[in-house]
Amino acid sequence: MGLLDDKVVLITGGSRGIGEAIVKKCIAEGATVAFTYRSSADRANAIVKELGDKVKGYQSDASDFAACEELIKQVVADNERIDVLINNAGITKDTLMLRMSEAQWDDVIHVNLKSVFNLTKHAMRTMLKQRSGSIINMSSVVGVFGNAGQANYAASKAGIIGFTKSIAKEVGSRGIRCNAIAPGFIATEMTDELSDDVKKAYTDAIPLKRFGEAEDVANACVYLGSDMSTYVSGQVLSVCGAMNT
Ligand code: NAP
Repeated sequence: MGLLDDKVVLITGGSRGIGEAIVKKCIAEGATVAFTYRSSADRANAIVKELGDKVKGYQSDASDFAACEELIKQVVADNERIDVLINNAGITKDTLMLRMSEAQWDDVIHVNLKSVFNLTKHAMRTMLKQRSGSIINMSSVVGVFGNAGQANYAASKAGIIGFTKSIAKEVGSRGIRCNAIAPGFIATEMTDELSDDVKKAYTDAIPLKRFGEAEDVANACVYLGSDMSTYVSGQVLSVCGAMNT
């Protein structure tokens, strides 16, 4: 018996990194999984081939409001319900404020923050009809503390926290929960871009003395998506090796 038996889980950005680990964990825990990607069609197809017919990939831009409406219609048509929505898709465009272009600001805000509005808004109708649902939004410790060179990213991730708490209050009475996860530094392609010096400095500052694994974050998603957490809502769960302490 799995922790997510009979649940339909929709994950944005499931083709790589943390999202891919969440897809795999949810399947291992018995869920039916729909996941999105923006451009990695080959990787998405490989995941579907590996995991079998309980998982389906959808090419859909999470920052596009109309595309998200279409996506939710398709996922509901395919599965009849959405029990867990995991807003995981995200990007970085790091640079110091003086050099940050309007496009770098807009892209990060649209993909990281507006996407959470887009998916939540369109999935909400289905969850309200069900009178149940768990929404999990991928924030970051950077959204809590800030980080030099990441003003756009930090603003998007802090915005996600305010959004999460508001939605938890707005729809709690309808049986819908909403929580955020704040990962610290997790070994994925996103953090691969960091120089060895920066990686060492971050590792030194992490009490557990290592970057987290994508699976560490996926485990937290299983907890928040499952009935193990039915009285947990409006919270920010840090998965950061005690960095945020
Ligand atoms: P990643 O390896 O770069 O993967 C990003 C995923 O998001 C990919 O599947 C990508 O799809 C998808 N994506 C990007 N833009 C999209 C869009 N417009 N529409 C739909 N999907 C889109 O990133 P990651 O490290 O796994 O990070 C996942 C989430 O965790 C992000 O929200 C990130 O901010 C957050 N996070 C990461 C860390 C970390 O240390 N890695 C720490 C804190 C928070 P394609 O493959 O098609 O491009």
